[in-house]
Amino acid sequence: MSIGNQDWQALLTRIRDCRLCAEDLPHGPRPVVQAHPEARLAIVGQAPGRAVHQSGVPWQDPSGDRLREWLHMDAGRFYNPRQVALIPMGFCYPGKGASGDLPPMAVCAPTWHNALFQALPELQTVLLVGQYAQRHYLEQAHGRNLTETVKAWQRVPAPWFPLPHPSPRNRLWLRRNPWFEVDVLPALRKRVEGLWS
Ligand code: SF4
Repeated sequence: MSIGNQDWQALLTRIRDCRLCAEDLPHGPRPVVQAHPEARLAIVGQAPGRAVHQSGVPWQDPSGDRLREWLHMDAGRFYNPRQVALIPMGFCYPGKGASGDLPPMAVCAPTWHNALFQALPELQTVLLVGQYAQRHYLEQAHGRNLTETVKAWQRVPAPWFPLPHPSPRNRLWLRRNPWFEVDVLPALRKRVEGLWS
């Protein structure tokens, strides 16, 4: 289902004005999202980190650098909302915990994602980056954990495509799972390139 331009703009404004978690966000609400009804690719990540909270630019951090490298995608396309929608599981920075950033605010995706995805009728591929996106969107288990789910990417039905998080904290995971760069990344790049060819 698609929505009109006015409705679309109103939805984005409502998201950017959202204060639902104001009392639970240590740095306050600052929803970071990029989308447009013409987008063919959506990237569902985790939540903004501190740098993105400050800049307001999604994936403008080392994780984003690695993700663009995985996709062989330059910043011009990545930041064009008519091509790529950037939709985290939580739109606001949740703050830091004992071992890295806290999980995305649990209320965010159930509050906003359905309306957003209904407004993106051209989507053909949705990258599920990290465990939170995979747990939320993959109804059927494709493995016991993220590693098994990513390894089983060929059995995951379109439009979904599971990926590990590209955070520098995951360097060890990448070293331990060399099949990801050898088998999965070439297929991912082919799938993404095909969206605009
Ligand atoms: S995390 Fe989501 S639901 Fe919570 S304040 Fe931000 S936009 Fe609203």
